[in-house]
Amino acid sequence: MNKGETPGIQAGLSRRSFLGRALAVGAGLMTLSSADLAQAMIVKAGQNGFFKGSPADTSNVNPLAIGQPASATTRRLGSSKRRLAFYHTHTGEDLELTYAVGRIYNPVALEQLNTYLGDFRTGEIHEIDPELMDILWALQQKSGKRGVFSVISGYRSPRTNAYLQGRSRRSGVASRSLHMEGRAIDVRFSEEPTEALRDYAIDLQAGGVGFYPESDFVHLDTGKFRTW
Ligand SMILES: [Zn+2]
Repeated sequence: MNKGETPGIQAGLSRRSFLGRALAVGAGLMTLSSADLAQAMIVKAGQNGFFKGSPADTSNVNPLAIGQPASATTRRLGSSKRRLAFYHTHTGEDLELTYAVGRIYNPVALEQLNTYLGDFRTGEIHEIDPELMDILWALQQKSGKRGVFSVISGYRSPRTNAYLQGRSRRSGVASRSLHMEGRAIDVRFSEEPTEALRDYAIDLQAGGVGFYPESDFVHLDTGKFRTW
């Protein structure tokens, strides 16, 4: 896909044909229905004023994610569709998508998540670890309620991380943050108090769990299980 291509119908169509080819490569594992694809395409326009570069730069799509088996977190969750809804507290954007079905992550959805969870301060985009989405999905399953995850922070560029560290020593910003690897997210959930979300995450033991009651969010990452 051309760098700088305008997001929209044309991009959507070419992404679909890309996905079609991708699924042909992975044929035999499973297929995504056109309805799944349509669901994956639901995203409000990415023009939000924060991104100074091209929000539709797809050069970071990881072809290895195609047909990649789902993570240990969700292996026991069967073959269900995994759908998540987000509200980004800094950009005001909503995003709702089916990012995986059974063992297969949807590469179009992962690409959208990379953009959506990019560094909103600098416009930089980084691959987001799909297992992070599986952790959110598992928490939603534990809750038993479909809701909206409010995103406080996703990917952070080194520049943004240094800025946040300098701004507040008590902000919980680590110098080697997994946010800088696309492996951490700070969220709250519409259907549960943040304390409950933390407790579910501790039960899950799928990665790091940090609780920030003053700012009312939980940090989740795909590093080794630890809590603070
Ligand atoms: Zn965090």
